[in-house]
Amino acid sequence: MSLEAQVEQAARLIVGAKHAVSITGAGHSTPSGIPDFRSPESGLWARYNPMVVASIFGFRQCPEGFFEWVRPLVKTLLEAEPNPAHQALADLEAIGCLKAVITQNIDGLHQRAGSQRVLELHGHVREATCIRCYRVEPTEPFLPGFIENGRIPQCPSCGGILKPNVILFGEQLPVSVLNAAWREVRACDLVLVAGSSLTVAPACDLPMTAVMHGAHAIVINYQPTDLDARAQVVIHDDVALVLPKIATLCRQYLASSPDNL
Ligand SMILES: [Zn+2]
Repeated sequence: MSLEAQVEQAARLIVGAKHAVSITGAGHSTPSGIPDFRSPESGLWARYNPMVVASIFGFRQCPEGFFEWVRPLVKTLLEAEPNPAHQALADLEAIGCLKAVITQNIDGLHQRAGSQRVLELHGHVREATCIRCYRVEPTEPFLPGFIENGRIPQCPSCGGILKPNVILFGEQLPVSVLNAAWREVRACDLVLVAGSSLTVAPACDLPMTAVMHGAHAIVINYQPTDLDARAQVVIHDDVALVLPKIATLCRQYLASSPDNL
């Protein structure tokens, strides 16, 4: 089937759905220049293994090592801009075709593109928590000193180290976010996987649960996923190319038959 035909089929499914949710991963942000830090090709493995340095055990043992490793990544996150795939999902939500985005990404680019309901399974860097007194602080005031001089953020109340609210390897995912994500996939009748190879739990289990409950599935990802065999539409291509085409078509379909709204 041609790409155009697949895009048309995806758009028809989305417009026909009552409750569509999207699940996004690292591939959604690579067009924004953000490396997949789990990948050895990211360049972030040159001196450290992130599975060690970006684990909660590594952090507790040597927070300096974590901050040194994460510094170039944070700089990249702050400089990155949402790409057309982020914009397309925000557009789909704005026209009533998407209820939520569940993401593995910590970059906040969905919100910056305009998405309203974003469930961040792996946390974010907007806030940090003191490891001594658990006070939560916005990270913005600490970022320039950290990026420019490597100054480790410290709690203004007790002087403890502020750990960014990202989920490190070995840490539990945030329960309220995870529960909300499960509710979304149980309620949905369409799941749109975009830029995730679905290899990391629970992101890999969420869409499968949706499908088991009878939801349609659309997969847009460079690499094949375990969901492909169960999906109505599978497109192994660039999300930043494909999603805007789908969003444009959805808008057209709605304009021609507004009853679908
Ligand atoms: Zn503190």
